Amino acid sequence: MDGNYNMNAFQPGHDPDDSNREKDYGNSCAFSSARRVDFMGVKVHDVDRQQLLQHVLFMSKEKQQRLVTYVNADCMLIARKNLDYRRILNLTDLVYPDGIGVVWGARLWGYSMAGRSTAADFMPLFCRSFAEHGLRLFFLGAKPGVAEEAAQRLVAEIPDLKVVGTHHGYFGKEQQPEIIAQINKSEADILLVGFGAPLQEFWIHKHKDMLAPGLLWGVGGLFDFLSGRTPRGPRLLVDHGFEWLCRLAAEPGRLWQRYLVGNLMFIVLVLHGRIMRFFKNHVP
Ligand code: UDP
Repeated sequence: MDGNYNMNAFQPGHDPDDSNREKDYGNSCAFSSARRVDFMGVKVHDVDRQQLLQHVLFMSKEKQQRLVTYVNADCMLIARKNLDYRRILNLTDLVYPDGIGVVWGARLWGYSMAGRSTAADFMPLFCRSFAEHGLRLFFLGAKPGVAEEAAQRLVAEIPDLKVVGTHHGYFGKEQQPEIIAQINKSEADILLVGFGAPLQEFWIHKHKDMLAPGLLWGVGGLFDFLSGRTPRGPRLLVDHGFEWLCRLAAEPGRLWQRYLVGNLMFIVLVLHGRIMRFFKNHVP
């Protein structure tokens, strides 16, 4: 591997056509039925899992290229400080809540939010629909061999599923043209990019015009879960808002700051926002 992406490469000014994207994506979302709420400065779609699937299927068949990603508490904290990331999220066609913190927080602010949609849960199910619709997938991201293992496991379960290519997510800039050519040659309809947030969003946004797939989708650590390399944790915890605890137990060194410090900070910010909204609405 040639090292992680250099975040400094994704600074403002690197993408000259950004102003057009605002026109193309921000204001002309094709999903009139999907409501987007402004939560902590990020416009999040209020969609349940079924609606998410419908939108993704719809977008995969459109002529126009579409971008999809998720947000959780950690993403919100990053977006609070990193304005480029926030701007990209708000230019993305579909942003769904993947963390329960975003759902609870948005509800506390008075918004309706159907629930969280976590790719590790829904992707095997979605892949059955992708297979039925003949949609081709390319998996990009995670450590060498992981995306391939994830694809093999899925195809063993869903023989009609077309995963037309995989590539790990640890490559240098000099390898990018070759990887993009491989993706385009595969004739994939959907590119799943699992570099984690915000790296995947920056990468997708920067390279979208060179990429042929109609749907570019940030999926975080999905391939680690689908390959079975990262355990999901007991269902009781995962389904009741404690998945972060399972992830923390699996990778404490990497994730303690994200979950222990980050979750606390997120709760404080949500409560602060709630109180401010109360005073704004009730004090003349
Ligand atoms: N990753 C990658 N390339 C990088 C850095 C990270 O492919 O340069 C992968 C990493 O191997 C892991 C995923 O990105 O599979 C990040 O997972 P994480 O759970 O942190 O993402 P999240 O869903 O929480 O944003």
